[in-house]
Order: sequence, then C-alpha cells, then structure tokens
Amino acid sequence: MAKKVKGSDRCVFCGRSQEEVDLLIQTENASICSDCANAAYEAAREVLHPMESTIRTNGRVTGEFNLKKPQEMYDFMSQYVIGQDAAKRVLAVAVYNHYKRIENQGADLLEKSNILMVGPTGTGKTLLARTIAKMLNVPFAIVDATILTEAGYVGEDVESILTRLLQDADYDVRKAERGIVFIDEIDKIARKSDNPSITRDVSGEGVQQALLKIIEGSIVNVPPQGGRKHPEQQMIAVNTDNILFICGGAFEGIERNIAQRLNTQIVGFEAQKKRANIDKDNMIQYVAPQDLRAFGLIPEIIGRLPVITHLNALDRDTLRAILTEPKNSLVKQYTELFKIDGIKLKIDEDVLEYIVDKAIEFKLGARGLRSICETIMMDAMFDAPTLNRKTFTVTLDYAKEKVENSALYIAQ
Ligand code: ADP
Repeated sequence: MAKKVKGSDRCVFCGRSQEEVDLLIQTENASICSDCANAAYEAAREVLHPMESTIRTNGRVTGEFNLKKPQEMYDFMSQYVIGQDAAKRVLAVAVYNHYKRIENQGADLLEKSNILMVGPTGTGKTLLARTIAKMLNVPFAIVDATILTEAGYVGEDVESILTRLLQDADYDVRKAERGIVFIDEIDKIARKSDNPSITRDVSGEGVQQALLKIIEGSIVNVPPQGGRKHPEQQMIAVNTDNILFICGGAFEGIERNIAQRLNTQIVGFEAQKKRANIDKDNMIQYVAPQDLRAFGLIPEIIGRLPVITHLNALDRDTLRAILTEPKNSLVKQYTELFKIDGIKLKIDEDVLEYIVDKAIEFKLGARGLRSICETIMMDAMFDAPTLNRKTFTVTLDYAKEKVENSALYIAQ
C-alpha cells in the first residue's frame, strides 16, 4: 500500500522528512509521520470513545448494588465507625429512603434526601460516607468544596465533581448516576455575612449557586477528563437525580448561632425548665436549618439538604476504641503486617493508653493516632523482618523512646 512517490517525502502535518522521524507512512498523494499519526489516533479516540480515554481509572465498583435495611446499615457502619450513633441512625434511614426511591421510580412523590453532616474535623464524616458507599457497592467521589469555583474563575468547575464519580464508575454512566458524592468543607463556602452580597463572592455564594444545580437533580454535561485542559473532549451527560450528595463541614462557631436561637426561642412559661435541659457542652446536637442559614449557607442549598445530622467530638474512650475496635483498626493492621513476616506482634495495654494521651496532647484527634503509631512502629517494621524473631512486643518504654525522639514531639 505505501508506495513511495516523489513529492510526498514530508509529513503533511509537521513537515518533517523521512530522516527526521521514526517512520514516514507514504501514499501517492501525501505522507504522515508516526508521531502525527499517533496524535491523530489519540485525538480521534478521545472524541469517538470518550469512555475509553487514557485517564480511565480501574473502576473499583464491580458486582451488583447492595441495598440493606437501616438496622443492617447501622451495624455495617459500626464495624468501621466508633460512636456517632445519632449520625449513623440518621444516615441509615436517609440512605435507605434514597435508594428505595430509586428502586421504585414510579414513586414520584418521594423526594431526594441529600444529607448534611455537621461536626468537628476528624470525627468520622468522610469515613461514614465512604463506608456507606462501600456497603452499597456504588461509585464514590470525595471533593473539597474549597477548590470549587464558579465557571470562568481559576479553580475547578463544579462539574468536575461528577468527573470523579464517572472515573470511579469506570465511565459507566448508569452506575455513576446512582453513586454517592461527598462534598467536604461545605462550611468554607458559606457567604461571609447574613446579607446577600452586592459584590460577587467568587468562592462563596457563587459556588453555592453552582452546586445547587448539581445537587437538586438535573442533566449535567460533564467533561470526562475534568478541568478545562481538554477543550476538544466530548461531554458526557449525567443525570444527577439519583446521585446521593452527602455534605460535611465543621461549621466552627455555629454553636453561637445555635445558642442564640435557643435563647430567643425559649421564652415564656416553660422557658426556665427547657433551658435547664439544654446540654451546653454539646450544642452541636441541636443544629437546625436556621443556624446554617445564619452561618452563611443560602436557603436554596439548605432546602436541598433536608437531612441534617451531627457528629460529636471524640472523647478519650472513643479514641481508645478507635485504636482497636474497627474492623480495620490500626492495631489490627500492624498485627497483620507483622504476621505476614511470620512475627506475632504484641502491643502492651499501657502503650495504647499512651498513644491516646499523646493524640489528645498534640490536639491531633483521630487522625493523630495514625501518625503516632507510625512513629512508634517505624523502626520495628524496619528491623523485625531481618531479626528472625517469632514475636515482637511494644512496651511503654519503647513507645516513649520513639515518640520523645521524634519530630512529632520536638515540634511541640
Ligand atoms: P472528617 O470528620 O474530618 O471527615 P475523617 O472521617 O476523615 O474525619 O476521619 C479521619 C480519620 O480518623 C479516619 O480515617 C479514621 O481513621 C479516624 N476516625 C475518625 N473518626 C472515627 C470514628 N468515629 N471511628 C473510627 N475511626 C474514626
């Protein structure tokens, strides 16, 4: 086929000659070099088969969707998430209702139950959302609201949220359309004052407005590769009607809004008695839509997040339990790592107490448990496989020595 004819010795696209390229494919009228041929192939593939684009991830979701009853969901969550009972119950019911609505498409009167979780950072919001997605076997995406901007501004368009979901579904649109999106730090896009702004608020209200479109359920054109770097990519239409949106935020300082509301609400005859019943140390449990509005979420967004729940700060006992009780607890993970090398790992009880003390002292919460454990276990993990031992015991002295000589400690 490639007959060499005089006059077609250069690539018609880049103009380079046979000597300058690896391969020149020639026909009677024109030639193309291997580089340009490859580029053309990629461009054509992206347009014609966007789902097979080069950035495809290995879809983790295989097998069938797996809906459980609320009690079963609660029990499943409890295998991974310690405490947070109120949140688990509310989530179990909301998720159950949400998927019941999808399974019975005829039931038009059922409204979507997107969820808002309010609670301090590191208390399990992301973990809960992730656990639910795992339990249901649906695609899952996490996005940080702070990186989102209105279209046209520097940052990510809100549609990129759905790009991530599509990627997790391995570009199976049908699967993505019943996935779960966790939008973290939703409180960071609150508008700064309770009054609607006259000037444009790029990172706040504008993003809330943009999010609204996606959350409330509509057909959204999603760039399969995200971003704006590939203007030629063909959009994929995604219907967000059945996508469950779970939002989370610390809403630092919202206790003040709650207290104010409770104080003004509770007037009159029963006032004194009711006030006495309020648990002032845990005001977050009384969070209500009005408080979110006072904090700076726009009413339309609040309206689209009808299920509100709270997470409590983690106390000492909960932190201690997190070390050993979850199905994939840190202690179980280290034990397994050593077991693979044929070593039985033993961690003394007072070491666990010490780890919790340090997490509290360093104000690192549950996230800190991991870094403290790593600090303690690092040298042991390095040495143990070559020491030829059958057991390894972590004592309090050993743990203290590691932590006290670490950057973690010196940085304090
Ligand atoms: P956030 O509330 O900020 O989303 P995360 O869910 O990301 O917090 O929690 C950070 C880490 O801390 C989790 O990966 C998990 O290991 C641990 N953790 C936090 N809360 C809990 C909890 N209630 N039960 C078990 N582990 C928890």
